[in-house]
Amino acid sequence: MRVRFWGTRGSIATPGPTTLPYGGNTSCVELRSASGVRIILDCGTGAMPLGDALMQSGEKPLRGHLLISHSHWDHIQGLPFFAPLFVPGNEWDIYAPHGFLQSVRETLAGQMQHMYFPVDLAQLGARIHYHDLTEGVFTAGDFTIRTRYLNHPALTLGYRLEADGLSVAYCCDHEPHSRSLATGFGEFAEQDLEHVAFVADVDLLIHDAQYRAAEYPNKVGWGHSTLEYAVAVAQRASVHSLVVTHHDPHRRDDELDLDVAVTEASLRADGSALTIIAAAEGQELELSPRQSLGRWQQSATASAEIASATRLNAQPVLLGVADARLFERLCDPLRADGITVVRALNTAAVMELAGSGAPGLIVLERDLPGDSLAVCNSLRNGAVLAADVPIIVASAEEPRGAVDGVNDWLIEPFSSTYARARMRAWLMRSVCRWAQPRTPSNERERLAALHALQVLDTAPEARFDRLTRIAAAAFGVPIALITLVDQDRQWFKSACGGVLIESPRDMSFCAHAILEDQVLIVPDALRDDRFADNPAVTGEPRVRFYAGCPLKLDGGAAIGTLCVADTRPREPGLAQVTLLEDLAQMVVNELQGRLPFQP
Ligand SMILES: [Zn+2]
Ligand SMILES: [Zn+2]
Repeated sequence: MRVRFWGTRGSIATPGPTTLPYGGNTSCVELRSASGVRIILDCGTGAMPLGDALMQSGEKPLRGHLLISHSHWDHIQGLPFFAPLFVPGNEWDIYAPHGFLQSVRETLAGQMQHMYFPVDLAQLGARIHYHDLTEGVFTAGDFTIRTRYLNHPALTLGYRLEADGLSVAYCCDHEPHSRSLATGFGEFAEQDLEHVAFVADVDLLIHDAQYRAAEYPNKVGWGHSTLEYAVAVAQRASVHSLVVTHHDPHRRDDELDLDVAVTEASLRADGSALTIIAAAEGQELELSPRQSLGRWQQSATASAEIASATRLNAQPVLLGVADARLFERLCDPLRADGITVVRALNTAAVMELAGSGAPGLIVLERDLPGDSLAVCNSLRNGAVLAADVPIIVASAEEPRGAVDGVNDWLIEPFSSTYARARMRAWLMRSVCRWAQPRTPSNERERLAALHALQVLDTAPEARFDRLTRIAAAAFGVPIALITLVDQDRQWFKSACGGVLIESPRDMSFCAHAILEDQVLIVPDALRDDRFADNPAVTGEPRVRFYAGCPLKLDGGAAIGTLCVADTRPREPGLAQVTLLEDLAQMVVNELQGRLPFQP
């Protein structure tokens, strides 16, 4: 794998004699796998010389994947100057964090409105596919890519990329969660430990290191790392090589040279094997595999891609905040995102509203009347919250160690933008931890075939209820359904063991099953990342086991399923699965109006 730096400066392009040799262009890194798959990390002004180089290479058509960390100028400003996007025949995939009220495409179109730029996004000649991301995993060519939210006053993703048996992590822009860690001292805990786990064992860590420890007290809340923190993360994560980047636009390159040389000397004096370099424009690294290192150690993760139309303001946010100023600072950004805010003035009200209001996120003031930390524990362990709802505590001081039930801390001083990004990240996490089903490639024909049956919204019929009763008995489970997957809903023609009539398609197991050729079996939904946080698993009817056989009409369209489900995990036998297939065929026969024994 090859890595080349095209832009290494943070915040604003800084050309001139003081930024040689590290360069004045803003963030842009190119990765190439051995097979030639091209990944571009961020699209700062460095994307222009990269685009020009690609155009001159003679390669046609030009293809690649652009991964944007966030929408601050220094990470997207090169996009309208990236020449390969203007050439018909080229094909590019663009990935970025899903915005709260707008899709990736809408966000990128913003900087190309006519007031700012003469060409709009619709005029790009290349075929462009936009991908909206949250935390999770996705693939691009032979790269497997994982994402995690960074700590920055805009919703920002870090990327961990694996290909050719090598791993590279890219974390720009990111501020330490713990202020003491920013100065190079203190213990890793909670969110900083999660950050370490995300980059654990990578061959190459490309990390924000805009500031120095001595500068940090004046830069709190600006959303960037110090060199000292980047080194501490790399050491704690057993990273092989650290490349620091996002250099401060005010830093002269001779100062940068000295800082890295001093750090390198102290690493050697400590006997550390970590290598460190400062990213320089034009620099190319060739990575070669090490043995048994750099592999992702954690369990499977849900898909990082979500539908661009996903709107994330459906659930209210509960603010347990008595202080009027703090309430305003938290409430304003939430309302700007179209989120309903519910307020509690003391811990007793928090307990009550958490149970009745179904919040998607809870933010508590550390000094709320009552014991705010004890309430986190009770909320979490007393089964008050319907699902695994995140809790953030806003506090004047850093916590001493982990507190049971608290997911994250907002430590003063913090800006409204910072609070907004943090609350957005947690809302994204709580909303998107189940995989929404893909749309089948034959969706239009599929829906036409379903609607032609004229079975939707008809009364229950004994001929279908008989079949679900047999299916439930065959599996010994309480639930068996004939589900028809309509445009936005699943509608139940027969529901043995349930009173459900319909439910949303995006939380439907059956919308996954119709994508399969065979019976979809989920032995334990809680151990399956596609379904673990699905509302039908975390809430009623609390599905643990599911088996669904697609109902395929003669033309091939899968219009729904015959499925069985249980509130306990199960491993069905082959005979049971075969019986489900037989019964599903009988459902299809009934739907197509055939006599039972006609061949
Ligand atoms: Zn930046
Ligand atoms: Zn930024």
